[in-house]
Amino acid sequence: MTAKNAQPVQGMSDLGPPGIAIWQEIEEVTRRVMALYDFSEVRTPIIEYTKVFSRSLGDTTDVVQKEMYTFEDRGGRSLSLRPEGTASVMRYVSGLGPEGQTARLYYIGPMFRCERPQAGRKRQFHQFGMEALGGPNPLADAEAIALQQHLFSALGLRETTVEINTRGLPEDREAVKKGIANALKPHMDELCEDCRRRYESNILRVLDCKQEGCIRVVESFPPVTDFMKAESREYLQEVLRILELLEIPVDVNPRLVRGLDYYVHTVWENKHPALGAQDALSGGGRYAIDLGGKTIEGVGFAAGIERLITALEHDRPEGVDTAPRAVVWIVSHGDKAMEENLVLAQTLRMRGVHCGLDLGGRSMKAQMREANRARAEFAVIRGDEEIEKGLVILKNMNEGTQEEMELPVLLERLVTVSRAEVL
Ligand code: AMP
Repeated sequence: MTAKNAQPVQGMSDLGPPGIAIWQEIEEVTRRVMALYDFSEVRTPIIEYTKVFSRSLGDTTDVVQKEMYTFEDRGGRSLSLRPEGTASVMRYVSGLGPEGQTARLYYIGPMFRCERPQAGRKRQFHQFGMEALGGPNPLADAEAIALQQHLFSALGLRETTVEINTRGLPEDREAVKKGIANALKPHMDELCEDCRRRYESNILRVLDCKQEGCIRVVESFPPVTDFMKAESREYLQEVLRILELLEIPVDVNPRLVRGLDYYVHTVWENKHPALGAQDALSGGGRYAIDLGGKTIEGVGFAAGIERLITALEHDRPEGVDTAPRAVVWIVSHGDKAMEENLVLAQTLRMRGVHCGLDLGGRSMKAQMREANRARAEFAVIRGDEEIEKGLVILKNMNEGTQEEMELPVLLERLVTVSRAEVL
């Protein structure tokens, strides 16, 4: 195979060692923190009937209009790769009956959007997210934001804050659109091509366009809350009050709208300075999703894992690629030793010690290099000579010290060290 046809599809990536370690860590921390807040995992298929997305996300959204991978199955039904997680979870809970209305669920997995690939924008990317089902309740919105921030800080993220705003009630929508349309009208020729189209189809989206010209235009606009009922403004104030009780700092961004039609009341987004133009790390909000006669309500967020890793590379002083591949690396010298050392490795592994060794008869120097690459804490050196004497050499890789000992002593030491690591 040539290097060229070893490439994955444009905008998609292979994930393997050593970089995979941070992915596993993020998944682990996500599962742990979600469980602390009493959320359960849900795994839905990656492919859905296209209408699952168009009915939830809205036919006029960029995601549905331009970005979905859509194809027909053999029966001519339209299917799509999921571009986000919420619509599938809504389909799932709609089948659960009454208990679905209060479900607390999270997901982790790949999403697909056929966007123009660029830094921070992939065609296959990964998200984790949560959905807490239930009607409008400022406590639930604040809890979702608290969970998100807990998860980010548990991962070592420092420089991110929540930008929060409200989309108001469904009955505010017309007044808001009209208010924005009036403010935009005199500036139509300053807008980008996408926003001129959005003026007709999805006008709120103009407010969070990333193009400089559009940013300049909307900067002078009144906040969207000016066009809303007092009840909507009060709901936001209540969410802010509870977040203060929970000691979660947030910034109110009066121009934050988020693109999808299904949002009501609270919306939020997290940005990060390391992300450049694609600066959104996560996005969330309260929603009321109409599944053809049945409305499902809840609050949720989704965070992009690729962007989270970029942010963690910036925020963690030690970087992200620091996970050791092994606690112990066994170094052999001679054929007999290699065989005996495989037996030793098996004994250690069965006792829970993470250990590696070379089975290919490479030089001792090459094996020591491998021990360093694996960030092993210890090297166990055992050649034919040591085997004859019934001894092994244990080298502490961090301190550079080494001592000779009998095999049972070594086993006891390494098992103890390994247990301490687990604890
Ligand atoms: P959204 O569903 O568009 O609100 O996206 C939620 C999060 O997913 C964003 O804040 C990003 O972190 C991430 N995300 C969305 N689209 C992409 C993409 N094309 N490539 C990488 N990450 C993305």
